[in-house]
Amino acid sequence: MISFLEFSSRVESLRSQIAEACRRAGRDPAGVELLAVTKTHPPAAIDYAARLGLRAIGENRVQEGIAKRPLVAPESAALRWELIGHLQSNKARAAVECFDRVQSVDSEKLLRHLDRAAAETGKTLAILLQINAGHDPAKFGAEPEDAPRLLDAALALPNLRVDGLMTIAPLSGDPAVAERTFANLREIRDRLAASRGVELRELSMGMTGDFEAAIAAGSTLIRVGTALYGERQ
Ligand SMILES: *Cc1c(COP(=O)(O)O)cnc(C)c1O
Repeated sequence: MISFLEFSSRVESLRSQIAEACRRAGRDPAGVELLAVTKTHPPAAIDYAARLGLRAIGENRVQEGIAKRPLVAPESAALRWELIGHLQSNKARAAVECFDRVQSVDSEKLLRHLDRAAAETGKTLAILLQINAGHDPAKFGAEPEDAPRLLDAALALPNLRVDGLMTIAPLSGDPAVAERTFANLREIRDRLAASRGVELRELSMGMTGDFEAAIAAGSTLIRVGTALYGERQ
């Protein structure tokens, strides 16, 4: 694990890269939130984020989130914990108990399980719909053509609140692939928001390797691990 000092300087440098990407895109940096992806790192990684005033962290496995939550500082428990990895329906209840938002919702079956779990725990669960906007056979996420049906199903469920959409760009040496993926998610969002009369404010897209392209395409939430904490083991 890197030191807090090292983490602070990485956050500072990332923030200036974000500001520069926003400047090029004619956007206000306040419209791009940084989600610190702490998966595989010790609970102290979450405490680092809280100490620097970040507001949200991302984990990709339910079990890892559950294991870490009791081990972090009280300020860290007050952050927004977001699940960004694939979720199986049978873990919906555990996910609802541990996380404040689930970004990886990609099927109607999972929607139903999350809605029921949210009802049972007496909360409204914030979600994002994960869309495979890059048509990547290696990625989870609903296919773009299924997005309208998935959104309609989500909007019909009383214990869920749909904040927006999420995508992961296909791994590629060609930056145009990520650019196309992000532009596609943005278009899908704009179309759905207009046709359903909902805001779908959040566009969760962009990671260490492609956040600048994501910001250019309208990302409101970049999910960054490696640039903040170094390589994962
Ligand atoms: C691991 C992960 C990230 C962060 O990736 P980095 O390249 O380390 O920034 C972002 N989003 C998801 C869904 C992830 O699983």
